Amino acid sequence: MTPVIALVGRPNVGKSTLFNRLTRSRDALVADFPGLTRDRKYGNGMLGDKAYTIIDTGGISGDEHGIDAAMAEQSLAAIDEADIVLFMVDGRAGLNVADEAIANHLRVNQKKTWLVVNKTDGLEEHSAMADFWTLGLGDPHPIAAAHGRNVSTLIDHVLEPF
Ligand code: GDP
Ligand code: MG
Repeated sequence: MTPVIALVGRPNVGKSTLFNRLTRSRDALVADFPGLTRDRKYGNGMLGDKAYTIIDTGGISGDEHGIDAAMAEQSLAAIDEADIVLFMVDGRAGLNVADEAIANHLRVNQKKTWLVVNKTDGLEEHSAMADFWTLGLGDPHPIAAAHGRNVSTLIDHVLEPF
């Protein structure tokens, strides 16, 4: 079975940038589904001999309050569909209340969740990670989706059990 990876996080953290990097110039099949799934985007990728499906989500608004509001419908649906959740935060912006609301949801969810700190290009990794330990989701994993920094290494680890 091909593992399904959901990209979750508030707007502007770099989910779509990572999605594009992980699906670009592979057998990328990007489809927009109508109706309930309209804000989810599905792509396929391959790392080494391992295939994966990845879901991009767009709709967690930082302006909303409470976990039900903060986690937009399609993000919850993407989490349900996924085997693995990559929860992305912004290493430049630092920790945000919306990140905490999402983390609270993910902590009680049984899905394997990886905390991914994006935009670490030009940042000192160790100090950029410090804030994010408090989310209670284990090790923060630094990447720079726009530049590809640490991306293959991360996905390699993520796919290890599959
Ligand atoms: P999304 O809303 O979570 O899908 O975020 P996007 O992928 O649209 O990215 C939001 C902004 O962050 C864009 O201007 C990207 O170019 C920028 N961005 C994404 N990844 C990185 C990165 O690794 N480093 C930096 N410096 N900027 C990034
Ligand atoms: Mg996006």
